[in-house]
Amino acid sequence: MNKIYLDNAATTPLSSEVLNEMMPYLTADFGNPNSLHSFGRIAKAGVDLARERIAKALGCEPNEIYFTSGATESNNWALNGIAKANRHKGNHIITSKIEHPSILETCKKLEREGFRVTYLDVDEMGLVRIDQLLHFISPDTILISIMSANNEVGTIQNIQAIANIAKEKNVIFHTDATQAIGAVNLNVHEMGIDALSLSGHKLNGPKGVGALYVHDGVMITPFMNGGEQESGLRAGTSNVPGIVGLGKAVEIATRDIIANSKKMRGLRDYFISKVMQNIELTQLNGHPVQRLPNNVNLSFGMVEGESLMYLLDLNGIAVSTGSACSSGSIENSHVLTAMGIAPDLAQGAVRFSLGKNTTKDEIDFVVEKLIECVEKLRKVSALSKTQVGKEDE
Ligand code: PMP
Repeated sequence: MNKIYLDNAATTPLSSEVLNEMMPYLTADFGNPNSLHSFGRIAKAGVDLARERIAKALGCEPNEIYFTSGATESNNWALNGIAKANRHKGNHIITSKIEHPSILETCKKLEREGFRVTYLDVDEMGLVRIDQLLHFISPDTILISIMSANNEVGTIQNIQAIANIAKEKNVIFHTDATQAIGAVNLNVHEMGIDALSLSGHKLNGPKGVGALYVHDGVMITPFMNGGEQESGLRAGTSNVPGIVGLGKAVEIATRDIIANSKKMRGLRDYFISKVMQNIELTQLNGHPVQRLPNNVNLSFGMVEGESLMYLLDLNGIAVSTGSACSSGSIENSHVLTAMGIAPDLAQGAVRFSLGKNTTKDEIDFVVEKLIECVEKLRKVSALSKTQVGKEDE
């Protein structure tokens, strides 16, 4: 059975271009970039090039890029580090209700440490309520953190508008751009973004490596102590092959942004229209237009998302319910709940996330199987309802 992977928001396969770039650093060029001899210098050159590539892609300076173990770390560091370094200016942080747990749980921790956090609502399409941002911003607000694009429903936020408000009020603005890099143009200096998190494995790059951009002059406390790496702010021997791969992956993602987005957007819209034509009681979650080109989040009435996910898996199709990070828990997705989606429809939500190599044939096959699977589950659901009805009589 040929397997079809439509879970690219959870992680993506490593591209051969990226692997080729990494290979020397996994083999012959194994040096420690901190060593002064030739082995060290070769490794350091690889790390330097990666930093330059990411800076170029983001429109910032190389010394504003810090390598991390991924976006979870970047988010934890950005929030903790900026909040603590700027505490003398105020203790209020603004974020949204639909952020990734690495933001939400760090905010909860900061609340326990005495910071005040406002969690902004979103509208029914997943857009952060800018009116609330304007309302809640106050003289003691030191940090705003709003994701560029949501990992579950794909809604792309009005980042420029939020950055403008932050700038006007002299508040530091961080964005979790993990899902947006390669789909949304983010020129951090031009847009006035002060800090940004990204991750390699969402971009056909390696896992366990990411970056945090911090604008020169923004105060942030170190994440790890004990070495000079990353300007002394994030100590520890650098993950050289990972960093090299990340640099290449970011370069490719921004180089190919127009072609990839166009291709995926076409397939995404084709997929949505096919499903809508053929499966009744289906709802698209998230913004109809302002959404990631690879994201399709659908709720199927009278179907449990988890059961559909397993049934599709038996047919060789990999998708996810809510977000991969929250699957396995029976609670409804915090994102769909914040968007006001009814609990039964939230239970029926499935995320299909396309990749840059997804084909029309694959989409056609998925639609065919989806029609069968939804029908099957609805029959079971209707049958069990009649049984329950009979038992109740
Ligand atoms: N933020 C968002 C929006 C994400 O989608 C993810 C990955 N699920 C993360 C942060 C965490 O990234 P990483 O896996 O690199 O820690």
